[in-house]
Amino acid sequence: MKRLLFTPLLLITMIIETQAQTKIAFDVSFTEPQAHYVDVKMEVSALNNEYLEVKMPVWTPGSYLIREFARNVEGFTASDENGIILSSTKTTKNAWKIHTPKSKKVKINYRVYAFEISVRTSFVDMSHAFLSPTSIFMYVTGQLKQPATITIHPITAWTQISTGLETLQGKANSFYAPNFDILFDSPIEIGTQDIFEFDAAGVKHEVAMYGGGNYDKERLKRDMTKIVEEETAVFDVNPNKRYVFIVHNYNTSGGGLEHLNSTVLGMSRNSYTDENSYANFLSLVAHEYFHLWNVKRIRPFALGPFDYDNENYTTNLWIAEGFTAYYDNLMIRRTGFYSFEKYLEVLSGVINVIENQPGNRVQPVSEASFDAWIKAYRPNENSRNSTISYYDKGSMIALVLDLEILNATQGKKGLDDVMKALYDEYHIKQNRGYTDAEFKVLAEQVAGLPLDTIYNDYVNDTKQINFAKYFNYVGLQLVDDLATKNTPYLGTTSVVKEGKIIITTIARGSAAWTGGLNVNDEIIGIDENRVNDLDKMIATKKVGQKITLLINRDGLLKNIDATLTRNPTIKFRLVPAESANEAAVALRRKWLKL
Ligand SMILES: [Zn+2]
Repeated sequence: MKRLLFTPLLLITMIIETQAQTKIAFDVSFTEPQAHYVDVKMEVSALNNEYLEVKMPVWTPGSYLIREFARNVEGFTASDENGIILSSTKTTKNAWKIHTPKSKKVKINYRVYAFEISVRTSFVDMSHAFLSPTSIFMYVTGQLKQPATITIHPITAWTQISTGLETLQGKANSFYAPNFDILFDSPIEIGTQDIFEFDAAGVKHEVAMYGGGNYDKERLKRDMTKIVEEETAVFDVNPNKRYVFIVHNYNTSGGGLEHLNSTVLGMSRNSYTDENSYANFLSLVAHEYFHLWNVKRIRPFALGPFDYDNENYTTNLWIAEGFTAYYDNLMIRRTGFYSFEKYLEVLSGVINVIENQPGNRVQPVSEASFDAWIKAYRPNENSRNSTISYYDKGSMIALVLDLEILNATQGKKGLDDVMKALYDEYHIKQNRGYTDAEFKVLAEQVAGLPLDTIYNDYVNDTKQINFAKYFNYVGLQLVDDLATKNTPYLGTTSVVKEGKIIITTIARGSAAWTGGLNVNDEIIGIDENRVNDLDKMIATKKVGQKITLLINRDGLLKNIDATLTRNPTIKFRLVPAESANEAAVALRRKWLKL
């Protein structure tokens, strides 16, 4: 109520004054790296308020899950410039309010426990420190636009620091972030990483390899250069001067997280010489690098400026992630790492994944985007029945959009032109996010025709994508190798635990679903025969046959009847159509740079 006494103008002036004066400096050290701790000192100077509130983000942009980073914070204390302890209280799960009656400066100390291996969480041990900034650095409430300096004190054994942050001139191990959005978007790798560099598209690229591995640096330089140049060609411009790849090589690892001028990738350390794994790694490089345009700069309206306290809802992850997933493999094809045949195999693989997932008929991809926070990142045993991946489905919508535009413009335009137009209009010209409607209008302008069918049926509804129509434009067709098969199907997946067959999923609409089998049921017998191999025993039955299963459910034996149905699994192969005319083949060449 007190706030109402201020006139809005006065309030704004006060906020600006506060913001203009405050200085924030972080000092990061590691007194117990073996126990996975990061010691953080945060100094906030030039205060002029009764209280100072600092907060830890609850999530990290690019990974749509509330992770509650404050749960790893301990030992929070605050003192003034003379070392006198200031009283502080936690006001929410991630906020600390410090009483600063006369102090001009506050020194905050806290420790962060960092022992979660992933591309979006911090990890420290004797071998290295990976700082994912949203889980390490606090911000002053309302002051995300303030700059910050970060000084790192590595332990003696660590000799390298890799980050997209600018170094602070004249100071060793010190960095500058012009605001907290950039600080939170700049992971820091500290240790003895193997660093190599290459120039591509006018940008200096640094690759920081942690964890060793059987990679060939010269080959990586050549291949990563090709990807960078092919992707830059889509947009005609590469906005960075410098870009950092932080690669975590673990025993088994994967995944990546995009940032404005850097990325963090996970790789299995001895997989670089396996050609399939190597192509997958290049595809991951292509994916995260494409994000520097799509999502970091061409962004859905809700994704920036970010709210670090709450979920940031968008219906557009099918564009932000799905289109990036489409481009990662397309780039691997265009640069020649995938042959034409291999690329068709990759595409049909994605189609098989979505077409064999019952959730594809249940959850529209726009809804899958919106609910990423509670569904995609928090799957359960029923997820296959109720959800669809906005990566896979989104990439197939990108595909049909690309083919529709290519066909409508006789190959003069394609999805590349939509991406470039989005970048020019919403990043360069307007410097803001695009809305659902704006994306559609722009795509329709490029295509020169309405795209209502794609939106009404495939984005906002769950109708089956008419792949035959779109592939026909480029002289390709899908052949289902299982179309004539009539095999019996129970509709379960299971694992064998201590010799027991335990059900792990039940497919929607299957015999198991209708008959009432449950996840966690143990299958003991079928028709009075002991089951040793469930799949083998089902294969001896017939479609339409009624079977009786003896199960153990929570210690009680039960008989369950189920009527086997035809196995609905689809196994598409994408192949050139014999009837393809010259125009279609020409369009195909243009699309895939054949
Ligand atoms: Zn992505």
